[in-house]
Amino acid sequence: MLTNAFANIAKQNRGSYQGDLAYIGFGDMPLFRDVDIEPLEILLERCRVVSFVAGDLLLDPSKGNEFFYLILDGSVSIYLDNPLDKPKDAAIAMLSIGECVGEMSMFDGKNPSAFVKANGSVRVLAMDNGTLWEMINLSHGLARNLLYFLSKKVRLGNGAVTNSMQLQEKHKKAANCDSLTGLHNRRWLDDLLLRLRGKALGDLSPLCLMMLDIDHFKKFNDSYGHQTGDEVLKKVASVMQHCLRPNDMVCRYGGEEFIVILPSSSMAAAKRVAERLRQGIEAESMTYNNLPLSPVTISIGLAQCDEGQQIDELIADADAALYQAKAQGRNQYCCAS
Ligand code: GH3
Ligand code: MG
Ligand code: MG
Repeated sequence: MLTNAFANIAKQNRGSYQGDLAYIGFGDMPLFRDVDIEPLEILLERCRVVSFVAGDLLLDPSKGNEFFYLILDGSVSIYLDNPLDKPKDAAIAMLSIGECVGEMSMFDGKNPSAFVKANGSVRVLAMDNGTLWEMINLSHGLARNLLYFLSKKVRLGNGAVTNSMQLQEKHKKAANCDSLTGLHNRRWLDDLLLRLRGKALGDLSPLCLMMLDIDHFKKFNDSYGHQTGDEVLKKVASVMQHCLRPNDMVCRYGGEEFIVILPSSSMAAAKRVAERLRQGIEAESMTYNNLPLSPVTISIGLAQCDEGQQIDELIADADAALYQAKAQGRNQYCCAS
């Protein structure tokens, strides 16, 4: 009956049954550290040595698992996704001689939590669930050692969760960031506006919004080339960041247009910021490959959020003020009326 169960491992293409247990130096294995083996010998005789070849899956979360495996030779790798479907995915850990897999599904009776693949030829001691529990009941030492393995797996799981959260955060950051200037991008602003939309802007008020646009940038590109234009965009972004407070939010709204949100700023304060930005950019000596370029200027439209005003209306007001600044000769700021 038991032999049939082990033979099943082979039938499911999960290793080949190798027959009875040969001599194994259990004393060297962490699972049996400080454990009196003698009372367990009768149970160990119920275990079998099973061999796997490179690429075999010892554990597969889509299938149940009836065995606890102690690695006797070779190594296995642990993956969150099926490594046969996604061969390029990195393993989250590699386990070798003396380590074990499958204990979690023995304890909770559920499918394995990860894929375990043989890296090459692997020999394991396979122990069925009933035998493992009998061993635990017989030996405190073995139970204690299993706790050690279990905590190692929990840490591995926590590590994988942390890595995946960090990765998500990285992707989120990249998705909200303009790759040329490093500023927030339009997508970030749209998300922010979506959150602000319909909300009273009371918490952030007096809030001001600024729309900035580089003057005659098309001509600049035509004279110096698009690549030089890109460098200028980076420089303008960097000057803007230096001129703003940490709470001010700046984003590249479009090609050569930027939006700055100034929370808790009166119109008087926003005007000072606008003038600082205008002067800062005008004064910046623009160069490309150490060659001087003609000065770059910006025009700015300013709008202050009135009580009950929606953020979309505020943007429209700032846009109208920017249009006015352009019409009045550029290199200046104008306030929405
Ligand atoms: P105005 O003073 O009225 O704003 O004139 P303008 O030439 O700046 O405005 P216009 O809208 O006619 O042209 C904007 C130019 O900005 C055209 C486009 O080539 C340039 N531009 C937009 N995005 C980029 C970019 O990512 N890199 C570079 N180098 N140029 C860009
Ligand atoms: Mg423009
Ligand atoms: Mg422009």
